[in-house]
Amino acid sequence: MAAHTHAGADAAARRDLAVRAAVEQGLVGGADSAEPLTCLLDTVGIRASAAALTSAFADALAPGTPVLHAFAVKAAPLVPVLRLLADAGLGCEVASPGELALARAAGVPAGRTVLDSPAKTVAELREALALGIAVNADNPQELERLDALVGAGPARSPIGVRINPQTGAGTIDALSTATSTSKFGIALRDPGAREWLVRAYLDRPWLTRLHVHSGSQGVPLALIAEGVRELHALAEEINEAAGRRQVDTLDIGGGLPVNFASDEETPRCAAYVAALRGAAPGLFSGTYGLVTEFGRALLAKHGLVLARVEYTKTSGSRPIALTHAGVQLATRTAYAPAAWPVRILAYDAKGAPKTGEPVAQDVAGPACFAGDLLATARELPRLAPGDLIGVPDTGAYFFTAHYGYNSLPRPAVHGFTVGPQDEVRFSLVRPAQRLAEIVAEAGGAHAEALL
Ligand SMILES: *Cc1c(COP(=O)(O)O)cnc(C)c1O
Repeated sequence: MAAHTHAGADAAARRDLAVRAAVEQGLVGGADSAEPLTCLLDTVGIRASAAALTSAFADALAPGTPVLHAFAVKAAPLVPVLRLLADAGLGCEVASPGELALARAAGVPAGRTVLDSPAKTVAELREALALGIAVNADNPQELERLDALVGAGPARSPIGVRINPQTGAGTIDALSTATSTSKFGIALRDPGAREWLVRAYLDRPWLTRLHVHSGSQGVPLALIAEGVRELHALAEEINEAAGRRQVDTLDIGGGLPVNFASDEETPRCAAYVAALRGAAPGLFSGTYGLVTEFGRALLAKHGLVLARVEYTKTSGSRPIALTHAGVQLATRTAYAPAAWPVRILAYDAKGAPKTGEPVAQDVAGPACFAGDLLATARELPRLAPGDLIGVPDTGAYFFTAHYGYNSLPRPAVHGFTVGPQDEVRFSLVRPAQRLAEIVAEAGGAHAEALL
């Protein structure tokens, strides 16, 4: 336990060093000439999370069991991040042609890439099979398309079917993939579905995998593990009916939730593995190869938004800080603040943690709608123009899932490492979007099109 607290404390210390260095090196700042907004990624933290995931499963699995940890690209679609994770031994889970292009640009081999998406086109399926990328079919109609494609020539790709174990919702409806009416996969408890699935496998000897992704933010570990137990039981049933080990690999998805309340990284991967061992001990016997698809649990804790406070004011006697970080970076927080609360850290214009009597204040973003708030009545040292706010835990699904409201530009992302003398080295992961790019993406080359 002490070691965990220490890891969080180390990460917090690295973060504070990085904030000060980001101001000193001009990446962001309180001064008029400095950038008002930037995003930081803690490279050491990302590597530590990748290593913790890998060792948690390696420690539990029978020696020699094939395992692929495929990072869910949608959590942080940045090529250098995918490359870093590939260097740490991970692959990619992709769910669109864009995500596949990013994985390929990062040099992730086809054999370490998994394609999931509920709406794959024939062209996407054909390309995946040509490349040898693993595919998980979502529904019977997709399986019919695969019948035609596989019939045209033997598939190099491992192919599976996604099931919905219908084990129930977590605390966030929009992220609950295993409800009785979820849009994902084949609903296992619907009348006749189980029998249909077993028959579908017996009829298609090339179906060798089964897939579930039943977790996400707000879903307890026990419920995720229950979905995996259902997956394992179905694989056993299919293999029994086939009289051979037709299903040789189980893809158990991702969905490990993230703690947004403190620097502690919890739940740990090891706790998840323990829950899986309890629910489905056979998963670790070596009978099945494993694929995982973690996203948020690998990246969230390692991202920080740093934004300048441009103005402060009071409204209805409530102090408000107007900052450059809002709905464009924290879309879910702005639209569903109760489900997606974020911490706010206060720094002064030099990047030092700000001290002072806490005052309840709203922390607002730059967008032109009233809900563009990162925090309401938050107790913080009273912010002043030129101060900076930090928004930690934003490495997944926040600044990496930019929302183009008000034509606000995608900010720069910098990775950082901290050396033995506390020196901070930044490397540019993604440049800030330029105004010319915003114009081009808004049809700038077609200005006369509607005349
Ligand atoms: C989003 C998604 C993931 C990753 O989910 P996290 O909650 O970020 O771990 C994995 N698999 C599939 C199929 C997904 O849609």
